[in-house]
Amino acid sequence: MIIFLKPNLPIKQENEFRRFLADKKVDVVPVVRRNQTLLVVTGRFSESTKLEVKQHPAVASVLETDRSYKLAAKSFNKESSKIKLNGHLEIGGKEIILMAGPCSVESKAQIAESAKEIKSAGCQILRGGAFKPRTGPYDFQGLGKIGLHFLKEAAKTHSLKVITEIVDVRDIELIEKYTDIFQVGTRNMQNYALLRELGKKRKPVLLKRGMWATYKEFLLAAEYILLGGNENVILCERGIRTFVPETRFTLDLSAVAYLKHETHLPVIVDPSHGTGRANLVRAMSREAIAAGADGLLIEAHLDPRKSFSDADQAISMQELNKLVKEVKKVARAVDRI
Ligand code: PEP
Ligand code: MN
Repeated sequence: MIIFLKPNLPIKQENEFRRFLADKKVDVVPVVRRNQTLLVVTGRFSESTKLEVKQHPAVASVLETDRSYKLAAKSFNKESSKIKLNGHLEIGGKEIILMAGPCSVESKAQIAESAKEIKSAGCQILRGGAFKPRTGPYDFQGLGKIGLHFLKEAAKTHSLKVITEIVDVRDIELIEKYTDIFQVGTRNMQNYALLRELGKKRKPVLLKRGMWATYKEFLLAAEYILLGGNENVILCERGIRTFVPETRFTLDLSAVAYLKHETHLPVIVDPSHGTGRANLVRAMSREAIAAGADGLLIEAHLDPRKSFSDADQAISMQELNKLVKEVKKVARAVDRI
């Protein structure tokens, strides 16, 4: 059950109500959102207590939910959540949002030229990792702070928004200054300390599905961010580990249909990591939009074979142009733009 307190309820009355709940042994977790506090009930309660809660003067309404991810569940918000970035860009609305760029920011010139190409292809958001979560410690780890600076400058020049990955909770304040969306990678999906800290922010978070995670685990991870009061959570399907050796991961497009059905949060698909093969990215992008995704996150490089990271899955700018045209056709066919 979720208890919605009356908007702008004086703190004294809120405290009185909290004491009333404590006396009844009802355990709650508070969520402060805009001008309203919600209390997520975590324990058991009797029918008579439920009735008393519903009739209490501090309470605006209650919502009964049988899901363990209460704030991420569709019942919490029957309309799809639309996540607004500064300006008029909206994720989860009618428009398909295209995020593209190199896996890593490699140099000032590389990201500047990439931004130009990404914009002219028709994408709205520039991606590029400055802090890279690499499998091996000797692999290129990203340019760090200077990379963030190059990324933001490049995006600004071409009126693009920025998405970049956060791998360490200690970098939140730094990255916040440079990005419009925090990206939480597959390896950090269950980094609960990081998720809780991002929940305290109001900047959007794109949460990638753990490569091992069930849908429930994925949504419970999203719940950690929502519980902090950050409503701006975007889910991203990026492929899971299966027995198939021919692709790097198996892109699970059932997840898109399932998540759209089960939650109100926008869903983005990353066909680059999802396949690990450049020659499959365009087809899977079309499929993702047909399945109901709200947008795509794509790795595109000026010279794919020379990518510092993830070279096998990077598509060329020429291929990106082709992809965008095809995806827009599919979007129209499924009543999107
Ligand atoms: C990335 O987007 O470059 C990345 C590291 O993604 P993932 O976390 O899905 O592997
Ligand atoms: Mn990558």
